[in-house]
Amino acid sequence: MALRTQRIKGSERVVGDDFVSADPGLRAQIIDGKAIAQDVRARVRMDCERLVARGVRPGLAVVLVGDDPASQVYVRNKDKAAHEVGFAARTILKPSSTTQAELHALVLELNADPSVHGILVQLPLPKGLDADALVRALDPAKDVDGLHPENVAALVVGRRGLVPCTPAGCIELCDRVGFSLAGKRVVVVGRSMLVGKPFALLALARDATVTICHSKTMDLPSVCREADVLVAAVGRAEMVRASWIKRGALVLDVGINRTPDGKLAGDVAFGEACLRAGWITPVPGGVGPMTIAMLLSNTLRAAARRHGLEAELAAN
Ligand code: NAP
Repeated sequence: MALRTQRIKGSERVVGDDFVSADPGLRAQIIDGKAIAQDVRARVRMDCERLVARGVRPGLAVVLVGDDPASQVYVRNKDKAAHEVGFAARTILKPSSTTQAELHALVLELNADPSVHGILVQLPLPKGLDADALVRALDPAKDVDGLHPENVAALVVGRRGLVPCTPAGCIELCDRVGFSLAGKRVVVVGRSMLVGKPFALLALARDATVTICHSKTMDLPSVCREADVLVAAVGRAEMVRASWIKRGALVLDVGINRTPDGKLAGDVAFGEACLRAGWITPVPGGVGPMTIAMLLSNTLRAAARRHGLEAELAAN
């Protein structure tokens, strides 16, 4: 029979997609990351106006090295989004022949530029370039990707630093759904520095009981079945099956995968997962849009902090 699900938007809940269910009693709520991201962006735009009124226009510099087509799309989207909220945004394009020393010098130049509050070096870098060294060269106060060791340390000890955008977006989604992580079992599949580990630390800071899984985890489906909140950040299309999901769990699908027929798919088998999860993010339109929204939010925060204007932000 047809199953109605709710699509959770920035500020409203409306009935959305239909799924065929064997269990007529189940309703998965689809979290509309696109709408929630729009809401975050509108908030950033408003806060940007407040900063501009105080003489500070947030500045974001995005560095793209080489001609990877996916990175070009990401960078274009980031630049466009930054302009839309009123930032002074610029994209610096460098050929793949750029040397490590040249990139290092560019980062130092941006560190010293008072009109730049956020610097993002689009990863991955072309072969032969050392991304870690470049991240370490960033001014941590401008590291809007939250990857500098100082920001990682801040996250570990629970100090306020800049947090990687994708996991920050996942936390924002939990908040918008009204799902408190305190006391919950959270299972994160994937242990990257960009997604899995920072999400685990953010959930821990919210008093969740956290398990991090990876490619060597034994009996992954059983571990996942314990999760009140299951985060899939692996990069394998539809790896997480419905049978891995605890009934009623919140499922955050970070994965972005291209299927052989050219479509986008998450790490979770979405159709069947909808029949077991309580809440779920779709791909596309779930976690993805939140990443850019949180990049804007981080840049805004970095600009406000730099000028001692954090109290001005409505988001506080
Ligand atoms: P990554 O650095 O490649 O990390 C993947 C993680 O998955 C690793 O920890 C790996 O374990 C684990 N893994 C691989 N195969 C596994 C298996 N069979 N069972 C359990 N764990 C397994 O990837 P990432 O950067 O975190 O990205 C993960 C996915 O999220 C990708 O699809 C990426 O495109 C997507 N992503 C989306 C956004 C967004 O905005 N929505 C942002 C960033 C990334 P080991 O550590 O043991 O190798």
